[in-house]
Amino acid sequence: MIIKYNLTLILNYDRIFNMEYFITGGAGFIGSHLVDRLIGAGKITVYDNLSSGRTEFIEKHTKKPGFKFIKGDLKDIDKLKKSIKGHNFVYHLAANPDVRFGGTVKETDLDLKEGTLVTYNVLESMRVNDIKNIVFSSSSVVYGETKTMPTPEDYGPCLPISLYGASKLAGEGLITAFCHNFNMKCWLFRFANIVGGRQTHGILFDFIGKLKKNPKELEVLGNGRQKKSYLLVDDCIDGIIFTVNNSNEQVNVYNLGCDDNIEVSGIAKTLLEEMDLKDTKIRYTGGNRGWSGDVPGMLLDVRKINKLGWRARHNSREAICQAIKRLLAPS
Ligand code: NAD
Repeated sequence: MIIKYNLTLILNYDRIFNMEYFITGGAGFIGSHLVDRLIGAGKITVYDNLSSGRTEFIEKHTKKPGFKFIKGDLKDIDKLKKSIKGHNFVYHLAANPDVRFGGTVKETDLDLKEGTLVTYNVLESMRVNDIKNIVFSSSSVVYGETKTMPTPEDYGPCLPISLYGASKLAGEGLITAFCHNFNMKCWLFRFANIVGGRQTHGILFDFIGKLKKNPKELEVLGNGRQKKSYLLVDDCIDGIIFTVNNSNEQVNVYNLGCDDNIEVSGIAKTLLEEMDLKDTKIRYTGGNRGWSGDVPGMLLDVRKINKLGWRARHNSREAICQAIKRLLAPS
């Protein structure tokens, strides 16, 4: 046991230091928390178009040695190829982050352009610059509506029901194909719903926004019985870093979540309590999903990552409570 622990530390040390990280989407919610963690462990370049990210999330690092921010769009492949040069480890987190947008009738190609094609651009820019390592923020939505819950990494076939999910699955496919053909290595993380401070989208952000506009009524999409798993962003970053430092296959695929899930109605009630809103009426729009492309249930099988030695510190309810406190705290 002691020997295993020591070996893990040595591996961690090796992988973390002397790195030149290139973080796409590093000014976003999860990306900026990743920057907070990696700063000092290597040089960091954040490449972000600020479409949903904010400079204030990374501004405390801008004057630190080794930190660089490039305002750039991943669709601009020439700029990307130049910017990525000289790095040796890519965290690819940029995407249209909202599972709902891509399902609108007007914009059916949003996730194709902002998810799939930009992932190709990242991979091609890595190939021409001989960069070998990529971490990808995939999602539980690649599984679609599963017959098996908790859902393990080898569940199949993966049949996503949202355009966002389709784009994540396509991204995974492009990455594994580049790994196979160009001797790259990847870590594909299928995240549960990630929550915490600095969120600019997602269920808590939506609910808080609605309540600020109208504290008398909270509209909840669906019947409130949708039951999903939530992971605090701190746990998400811990899990990523632990796994990158302790797994070494050419393709490393991991579910990243905790081992329980909670209903949307429970989240709504917890939020009302935290906001001290005793008389707010909750109005459910009905149906077993919040929107077309929403899955009514999600729980990831996290035994693979647990076996590697990592476990989430917070369950779904604790993650939600922490996230609410941070989102409501004055900035
Ligand atoms: P976010 O919107 O806060 O971060 C995305 C970042 O990417 C933003 O800073 C945005 O400005 C940037 N970006 C988007 N398109 C870009 C482009 N074309 N060029 C350059 N930058 C661009 O979202 P997040 O919640 O932090 O999500 C980060 C990643 O994790 C995304 O890939 C998302 O799909 C994935 N993910 C998130 C969750 C979750 O619950 N938040 C769950 C599963 C997967």
